[in-house]
Amino acid sequence: GKADIECDLVVLGAGPGGYSAAFRAADLGMKTVLVERYDTLGGVCLNVGCIPSKALLHTASVIDEVGHLPDHGISFGAPQIELGKLRAFKDGVIRKLTGGLAGMAKARKVEVVTGVGAFLDQHHLEVAAAGGKKTVKFANAVIAAGSQAVKLPFLPEDSRIVDSTGALQLKSIPKRMLVIGGGIIGLEMATVYSTLGARIDVVEMLDGLMQGADRDLVKVWAKANAGRFEKVMLKTRTAGAKATEAGIEVSFEGEQAPAGPQVYDLVLVSVGRSPNGKKIGAEKAGIAVSERGFIDVDKQMRTNVPHIFAIGDIVGQPMLAHKAVHEGHVAAEAAHGEKSYFDARQIPSVAYTDPEVAWAGKTEDQCKAEGIKFGKSVFPWAASGRAIANGRDEGFTKLLFDTTTHRVIGGGIVGTHAGDLISEICLAIEMGCEPADIGKTIHPHPTLGESIGMAAEVFEGHCTDLP
Ligand code: FAD
Repeated sequence: GKADIECDLVVLGAGPGGYSAAFRAADLGMKTVLVERYDTLGGVCLNVGCIPSKALLHTASVIDEVGHLPDHGISFGAPQIELGKLRAFKDGVIRKLTGGLAGMAKARKVEVVTGVGAFLDQHHLEVAAAGGKKTVKFANAVIAAGSQAVKLPFLPEDSRIVDSTGALQLKSIPKRMLVIGGGIIGLEMATVYSTLGARIDVVEMLDGLMQGADRDLVKVWAKANAGRFEKVMLKTRTAGAKATEAGIEVSFEGEQAPAGPQVYDLVLVSVGRSPNGKKIGAEKAGIAVSERGFIDVDKQMRTNVPHIFAIGDIVGQPMLAHKAVHEGHVAAEAAHGEKSYFDARQIPSVAYTDPEVAWAGKTEDQCKAEGIKFGKSVFPWAASGRAIANGRDEGFTKLLFDTTTHRVIGGGIVGTHAGDLISEICLAIEMGCEPADIGKTIHPHPTLGESIGMAAEVFEGHCTDLP
């Protein structure tokens, strides 16, 4: 039959990957359709991910900062928390941003179709909504259907067991909370809830929290956060759980398992995210999807069906918004016939904890595993005038260099605002900078960013006399 809508490019999913692809395609002059099952654009990141978590983390960091002020001779009372207002603030942030996206889609004449999309064949997508079905005929497609939280099958269905989406709803502040999984998402939510007054246990199967980051960075965070958690149980897993009136009774097994079951008012499951590749009718278009639901792509983000692209969480790790956005641009440009490739030298990671932990390019662990000969230089924030003035000198800045090419290949920062600071290292890696390029760049004094220049100077063998 005849399609309801015809377009040059259809994008399935309106998260950071999808809206970036759609906007770039429209800017290039393609007739673009953006399909999204929810009423708001922005996907996980804007609605239930990056943005709401950062709204709450900002609030938490201000409370924590105020907690340091008695050392400066300033005291406030205990925080009075109006949870409803905090929720409203967070929801307002989301509304502003998703509304902004809707405006940008309209301005670019991107047609937004609301409903659940599934492929019918290699050139047709069906979108099902309460009001009926629509078919979209497309020349090119971009799959940006994202991921969802992994569930633990042995946990009962209970409103006191939540994933990150549930935790972000902030229904109440539990007395005792268990965070299952010590990755970035779990630790960010633990930071929020502990600052708001919850006593928190963290359980992690592996031998350390915040996997992926070099241990020297994580150690500084762990030391500063030692008082934040009741128990951190490493090499331990949850063995079972039952819902009782008193709470969720969880039993553990492994090296640091407590003697008996523990009772919690809230359990956050943050054990990873799984891609939505098996829910979009990919087989009808002949698109290859892996056992786990990932879609394989080449450097132009093309699937095995050359005019159908895939981007973002659905194509693999790292599942990060900025990676999805970059891939979205590559896919849109490639669909438009340009020679665009995913060719990034680095994808930064940031844990927006307190202090923050950020890293980019190669880690030391990766260099060792890959046999790369590397040098490193570290600038401790205990020697940074600004960090000391802030009363937060517990961090450090680290640069890694390839000793053969002398280029910057990685770096990490732990300390307040590390996530904002890492960008300079990202740029240095992309541009193939040598330490002298950074060391001879005049950085503003006194700033935390100066620590990157100082680290480069340490490598050059100069000791700076600027504190
Ligand atoms: P998604 O954002 O998952 O969007 C996919 C969209 O597709 C969704 O809107 C979905 O409704 C829609 N969709 C799926 N299937 C269909 C269908 N069949 N029909 C119609 N629509 C469909 N990343 C960072 O970089 N920084 C952070 O600080 C950060 N914090 C996070 C915090 C939390 C709590 C979580 C859960 C994630 C966080 N992330 C963060 C990860 C980030 O949210 C994801 O990497 C990013 O959203 C992936 O973008 P995407 O475009 O691939 O997919």
